[in-house]
Amino acid sequence: MGFIKWVFFIFALCASGSTPILSDSSFNSNGLSRIPSKLLNFAKKPELFDWMVGIRRKIHENPELGYEEFETSKLIRAELDKMGISYRYPVAITGVIGFVGTGKPPFVALRADMDALAMQEMVEWEHKSKIPGKMHACGHDAHVAMLLGAAKILKEHQKDLQGTVVLVFQPAEEEGGGAERILEAGMLENVDAIFGMHVEPSLPVGEVFTRPGPLLAGGGYFEAVISGKGGHAAIPHHSVDPILAASNVIVSLQHLVSREADPLDSQVVTVAKFQGGGAFNVIPDSVTIGGTYRAFSKESITQLKQRIEEVITGQAAVQKCNATVNFPESFPPTINSEALHEHFHKVAGEMLGIHRVKDMQPYLGSEDFAFYQEAIPGCYFFLGMKNETLGRLESEHSPYFQINEDILPFGAALHASLATSYLFEFQPEVHLQEGKYDDEF
Ligand SMILES: [Zn+2]
Ligand SMILES: [Zn+2]
Repeated sequence: MGFIKWVFFIFALCASGSTPILSDSSFNSNGLSRIPSKLLNFAKKPELFDWMVGIRRKIHENPELGYEEFETSKLIRAELDKMGISYRYPVAITGVIGFVGTGKPPFVALRADMDALAMQEMVEWEHKSKIPGKMHACGHDAHVAMLLGAAKILKEHQKDLQGTVVLVFQPAEEEGGGAERILEAGMLENVDAIFGMHVEPSLPVGEVFTRPGPLLAGGGYFEAVISGKGGHAAIPHHSVDPILAASNVIVSLQHLVSREADPLDSQVVTVAKFQGGGAFNVIPDSVTIGGTYRAFSKESITQLKQRIEEVITGQAAVQKCNATVNFPESFPPTINSEALHEHFHKVAGEMLGIHRVKDMQPYLGSEDFAFYQEAIPGCYFFLGMKNETLGRLESEHSPYFQINEDILPFGAALHASLATSYLFEFQPEVHLQEGKYDDEF
């Protein structure tokens, strides 16, 4: 069964009652412009807020790594079941894709990542991770809670949805390419737009940050084995020293950004791994180095990758060593659609006040949300969490990372408003007029 047919089938099974968002207004621009503030008020209701906090804490206590999010996924499905929201499972092993709305186009997707990190939580609190060596230190527990919050809001206002919202609970954002596997499963083939967000502890609470065009870098990882000939450290002329060769390789790699890249085109090459030798008096046979490269365009990424290989093999050869280079993972840059950024700006501005919607500089970190944006127009943004009166929040991936749970209603309402308003404003006349989808039903 095709995606559209499947969605229609599910919706045929699910009748629903709901409270219209626009019950006191017509479908005009005035009514639309009030959606974000109405939904934020809805999200702030104590029962919804407490419910999201409970979900977030439960997930936080039981962090699961990429493609192992079985309990998290089970919890999500149990909540969707209670709400009467249809979903598809399993997608990409542990992923869950929910559907709210008419079951017809347009389709707009909202994405939350579910995975935790392999690290020990150092925060002492009631809901500390119960799994040694695993922690939600990137806020994905909050992301899931906020998307479930959005699901609840959307379901309550289902009668007002002028299309279908696709809820993407994605595995393995940190490592393993969860977004790619969701796409490969064909779940987003008819989706017209996708939104994603990340909590950010360094930015003020109640403020959102993004930009049109390139937002986060793309790039990848590299690993090289530089092989020489081991021997006694006091008799170097009988050996071929891979430590010295690797050192020269690392210095030469610095030239790629400082001498070959356009200074106005931000790029990074970092060697973050150097493994070789184990004794004071032995020259080892080989050295392994590895690291990452980042840039904001596909051309620059391709160029960097090619030159990294050339420099490693060429410079190793100068020192009479051999080198093999692997590129285990690569990812595209996160590039926001101009039209969807404009939509985000309008919706977030109405909800939070336009002075709380900030443009940000591009950032050389990466996000696998970028894979969606290669296939579908998308907009990714950051939701601030910092509240000076509550003390400093540590950055993502710190063992002391904490969530300011006050943001949960903002995230849920932003998700729900972006989707609801999108469905009103981006009615694809082509879909409906040509009857393209009617045939499939
Ligand atoms: Zn992370
Ligand atoms: Zn993250």
